[in-house]
Order: sequence, then C-alpha cells, then structure tokens
Amino acid sequence: MKTFALAGNPNCGKTTLFNALTGATAHVGNWPGVTVDKREGVYKGGNENVNIVDLPGIYSLSPYTPEEVISRNYILDEHPYGIINIVDATNLERNLYLTTQLLEMDVPVIVALNMMDEVEKSGDKIEVKSLENALGVPVVEISALKSKGIKQLMDRAVAMSAERKGTTVLKGVLEKQLETACAFYQSEEIKSPLFHAVKLLENDELELERKGAKQAFEKAVAGKDLEAVIADERYKYISSNLAHVKVKKAGKGVLTKSDRIDRVLTHRIWAIPIFIVILFCIFHITFSEDFLYVGAWAGLGGGLPALDDLGLSEGLAAFVGIFYDGAVFSPGVILFNVFDTVFGLITDGVGGAIHTEWLSGLVSDGILGGLFAVLGFLPQILLLFLFFSILEDTGYMARIAFVLDRIFRRFGLSGRAFMPMIMGFGCSVPAMINTRTLADEKERTATVRVIPFFSCGAKLPILVAIAGGIVTYFGVSNADLITYGMYILGVCAAVVCVLLMRNTTLKGETPPFIMELPAYHWPSFKNLMLHLWDKTKHFVKKAFTIIFVSTVIIWLFSHLSWNWRYLPDEQMQDSILASVGMFVQPVFTPLGFGSQLGKFGWVFAVAALTGLIAKENVVATFGTLGACLISMGAAITGSADEILADEEGITAAIAMIEATGISIPALIAFIAFNMTTIPCFAACATAKAELPKGKFKWTVLFWLLSSYIICAAVYTIGYRWWTLFIWLAVVAVITTFIALRNLGKFDIISIFKRNKKGEE
Ligand code: GDP
Ligand code: MG
Repeated sequence: MKTFALAGNPNCGKTTLFNALTGATAHVGNWPGVTVDKREGVYKGGNENVNIVDLPGIYSLSPYTPEEVISRNYILDEHPYGIINIVDATNLERNLYLTTQLLEMDVPVIVALNMMDEVEKSGDKIEVKSLENALGVPVVEISALKSKGIKQLMDRAVAMSAERKGTTVLKGVLEKQLETACAFYQSEEIKSPLFHAVKLLENDELELERKGAKQAFEKAVAGKDLEAVIADERYKYISSNLAHVKVKKAGKGVLTKSDRIDRVLTHRIWAIPIFIVILFCIFHITFSEDFLYVGAWAGLGGGLPALDDLGLSEGLAAFVGIFYDGAVFSPGVILFNVFDTVFGLITDGVGGAIHTEWLSGLVSDGILGGLFAVLGFLPQILLLFLFFSILEDTGYMARIAFVLDRIFRRFGLSGRAFMPMIMGFGCSVPAMINTRTLADEKERTATVRVIPFFSCGAKLPILVAIAGGIVTYFGVSNADLITYGMYILGVCAAVVCVLLMRNTTLKGETPPFIMELPAYHWPSFKNLMLHLWDKTKHFVKKAFTIIFVSTVIIWLFSHLSWNWRYLPDEQMQDSILASVGMFVQPVFTPLGFGSQLGKFGWVFAVAALTGLIAKENVVATFGTLGACLISMGAAITGSADEILADEEGITAAIAMIEATGISIPALIAFIAFNMTTIPCFAACATAKAELPKGKFKWTVLFWLLSSYIICAAVYTIGYRWWTLFIWLAVVAVITTFIALRNLGKFDIISIFKRNKKGEE
C-alpha cells in the first residue's frame, strides 16, 4: 500500500483533511499544535487503498521544535511514497515557505490548496496552472472542511511517479556553495542530497552531527553565515515568482468580515474585558440557579414566590422543581436536575429492594451514591465543553492566545504557552503532551507545572457540588459566580506562578510566536458533536472503572474496623478510614478544613486524598460518606431535601457541611486546594514523561507548596478579611525582590563578593 504523509503549517487543515480522508475522528483544533504525534489511517475512496500519515504542523524543517524534527525524520527515514503538502490558500505566501523546503527532498510532492471555500467567498482566484508550472509539481484545489476536491487530489497523488529529484529555489544565488555541499552527500550516497546540502549551509545542528559534515560545511560556506541569507532568498523567490498566482478581486474593500470582527474582539483595550464577559455568560448559562429572575424585571417587588409557596401537589412540585424555584434555572441546571431526579429514583428503588443491611449500604450508599454523585454533573460538563468547543472552532480562542501574547511576552510567556493551558480546561493529560509545541524547554517546564491549575472536567463536579452546597445551605451567592470565580482563581494562580518561575528558577528566552489567525467561521456541527462524544465516552468509562472501584474501597474501609469487623453506619467513626483521615486531618488546619472541624472533619481530608487517584473521586467520596453521615444522623439535611428534590452530589456536600460545621472560606479553600494541588495519577504520569529529567520531583514539590500557600491565603482572607493586606505585602516584597534582582541591583552573591573584595 502506498503511504502519503500530510505535511503543512499548523492550522492549515491537516487534521480536517486526515479525518475526511480516513473517516477518523481526530481532534480538530483551531489553533496550532493540536496534533503533536503522528497519526495513521487508510483512505479507501479511490481505486486503490492508501495509507495516510498526519504529521505535526510545522513552519519549516529546521530542528528548532520537536515537531519539526518528527516531521523531517519521518519523511527522510520512513520513505513515504509521497508528500501531500497542505497549503492554506488564504495565507499563500507564508505557507509556500515550507513548500520550497519540501521540494528539496527527493520525494514526490503534491500541493493541496486548502480553504478554497474561503478564497472563493472573498472573491479571490488562484491561477493553479501557473503555480503548477512554477513549482513543478501537481497542485489541486480542495476544501477539507467541505470535503471538496478530495477525490481529485487523491487520484492525482496516486498517479504521481515514484521518482522525483529535489529542486531548490536557491539555485541562482548559492550555486557554488550548494555544489560543494551536494558533492559531499553524493559521495556518501545519501538520499536527498540537495535537501541535506541546503540544511548544511544553514548550519543545521542535525546535519553537523554527521561524520565529515563539519569539514564539508567549512569548505562550502567559507566562514559566512548563510542561514539568514537562505531564509531571505526563499521569501524573495516566493514574493516575486509565486505570489502573483493569487488574483485579488478587483476593487475589493480592504477589510474582510473577519477583519471587522477582529477590530472589536482583538481590540487593544477591550479584548480582555470582552473575553471575561463571554466567559461569564457561559458560566451563567451552565450553572446559574437564577438564570432568569423574572420578578426583578417585571418590577414585582419581592420577586417571584419560592416553589414551596406555590402550594402545588407533591408530584407537580417535583416536576416544576426541575425548572424553577423563585427564578428560572439555567439550561445547565435544568439538565442536571433531570439527571438527578432519575438517579434519585434508581437509588431509592435499588436500596429498597435489597434487604441485607450491609449489602444495601454498599450498593446504594457506596456504589450508587458515589457514581451518581459524579455522573450527575455530566450534563453541565458537556454544556461547558460545548461552549469551549464553539469558542475554539470559530477561531476565537486563537485570537485570545494572540491577545494574551501581546501582554505576557514581556514577562517571559508566549502566546503559544496559552494553548496547552486552555486545553487544560478539558484534561491535563493532552494539555501536557501539547506543550511539545513550545521550543524553549524552561517555558515548557513552567507550563506543564501550571496546567493542573486550569480546572479540568474532572474537577468541575467538586466546584459545582460545593458551590451548590454553599448556595443551598448558607443561602448566599450564586453557583455560577462561585464556579466562575474559582476558574478565574486557577487562571490567575497559573499566571502568577509562571511569571514567578520565569523570573527566577526557569529564566529563558521567549521564542517568537507566529500564528495564522484563521478566518472566523461557523463551528461545524459534526465537529462539536465529536468533541462532546469524546468527552462523554471518557467520563463514563472513568466512572465505571476507576471511580467505581474507588467508591467500593472507600465504602469498605469506612465500614471495617482495624480487626476487620463490619461496622454499621453508626459506628463509622471507629473505621480504618476514619482513623487514617483523623491522622492527616491536622495537616489541613491552616487551610480551614483540618482540626477545627471536629470529629467528622476527617471526611474532607479523605476526600482530598482520594482525589489524587482521580479528581472525580472527591465528589464520589462525598457521595459515599455523605450518605453514611445522613443515615447515622450526623447530618439532617432536611431543609436541603425539601428544596432540591434529591441532588446526589449537592446533598452529599450539604451533609458534609452539616456534620462538620465547616465555614464558607474553608469550603472555598477546599475547592482551591483540589484545583491546585498534585493532579490525578494520570496527569502525574504524563508530567513525569514530558518534563526534562530530574524536574518531576521539583514539580511535585511545587504543586504541594503552591496549593498550600494559595489555599492558606484564600482561607485566611475569607476568615479575617484584613489578612488580605498581609498577603499583599508579602507579594509586594517578593515582586520587588525579583524585580531588583533582575535589574542586577540586588544580587546577594555579587554584593557578598563585592564586600569581600573591599575587605582585601
Ligand atoms: P491542523 O492544525 O493543520 O491539523 O488544522 P485543523 O484540521 O485542526 O484545522 C484548523 C482549522 O481550520 C479548523 O477550525 C478547521 O475547521 C478549519 N478548516 C480546515 N479546513 C478548512 C477548509 O477547507 N475551509 C475552511 N473554511 N476551514 C477549514
Ligand atoms: Mg491537527
């Protein structure tokens, strides 16, 4: 079977084409670097089946980033039959830069001019024939998104002859040097001598490793630095010989629709406030219990009556309670309520059907209590991800990275680093892998460390359960405000930590950030559904494996004494789990959920510990232990039960609040702790694999310290507001110290040396 490699710039539509060709459902992202490893599939739409390999997106074949090396080595060493070079036709000149390098290899190349739908929409045209003549390889117009031109592309690709000699646009200028370098590779009988020769002239480190290359290099370049000359020549060639193939629509206005949208959304001042408002709207739709507070609008004085005051029959009240309680719930909360009502019915039914006490406890409190506490949040997680996918797919997230780059570059963080961070909202594992797109190792390390601060899908149930508990039990604030606030806290913590690291232990260059801003487009329905389906699968699979097992274990250890005797719910305090929990409990005292919580306080300590396996476990533990607390009478939750029919996760949180008397600041600190401490097991394993050698243990220490400090700050400020000033003072001192040190005015060692010199 013939193998074709897809090569092209980041964001040119490689993965979209790969999916269209192979019917695969790989993640399509509207920002660079989503594909980091190569991926394979089979195209079956033509006369013969062919193998397709999706390579990472690259701007050139120099060995500056891991992706460039992966792509280059793949083409040189694995000998694909040909390369399908995807070129974003809306960004022709920039994309052809890579094309000129690919053409230097002795491999058949076919150019796929992608995004032709955009080009046509803008009224422009591309003279394909003249581009073909100039490049000397076939060029086919396609639209990967609309699946247009794909069959023609593949038919012509398969028909290409297997032999092709590399060609270069540098011939006229560097004739002599190239000849010398080529001679070296030809004498070594290396394939694609022209490509290697050009790289050698560029002083390419991978080439110079070759035996004898150093001498050949010196002989060819004769002390000149040709790297910049070569890059310059390529661009010159492109703009004078290739650029003209794009014919602009006559008399077209300068601004496209996208440009006009960008004038607002990437505005120098308004971009960030607009982003914050958009995010808030998303959280409001997903989490708010006061989505439509009709009373306030209609000027009905005290607002609308609460559900209890409507005097409805029990069945009707349960139904209306899904949508309304003094205000209309947001779509996210309504979905949550639907799921929860169903889960409540199942739990009651199953619990009632089993008559052995311990078994009924294990099944309904342990397994179902734990599982449903987590699964109940699936609708809200999906809704949140739907919105994030829309922001990503339309091209808005790429703009945000661009806007943030403008601000954070001076602090040692490039816009590139924000993409893996934003991916962290989904799951830390792919986000950490995605940091491979960062060229600077230190920037990469710093980014991997703060990715867990971007609250992932698994942490969402913790936020929502506790926010729901706070709103229902204490009757303050709104769940959307609390969750939104916690997300922002995580992001701020991440930014501050990166800035600290980049100015102290992980100082380094911030490489330039080049990115195509793709034109805005409507998100594709299929794409969105694929994202959601992926999330659902992942979440449900995890629920029925890791979380299922964990809840059973937690239930068992909370009902076994040290001499392996079964303890009924009432004696949970004597269980193994309780004593382990009580042992670690004091550690959390400065954070508000330690010794001050009294005899049941260990449940929070245990929940935090189980989160180290998977973050969903925190709420699953709430579910299991909360159910036990209720049945042992430590928590009444009568009042809560009335309002929220049967909300597993939230009721469990309320049970824990009642039994321990924990305060609001401590609850917020508890959320913050789970968000910023050591992430789940899978994320730790990924971090260990992705970080440079020896950095992992420091990273774990970083997570422990940062979560402890952040949560202590949250708790003390919430508990005694004036401690805010102490924390601010500490931050000010640290900042000044770092700033002065970077200015070279406050270097302890050099001051010390200077003094010593003075003494001499
Ligand atoms: P990759 O980084 O090269 O893998 O690019 P992706 O396949 O992730 O695509 C990047 C963005 O370009 C996505 O938002 C796609 O929906 C969009 N895109 C891809 N192909 C086309 C196309 O033919 N036309 C248009 N209008 N958009 C496209
Ligand atoms: Mg991709």
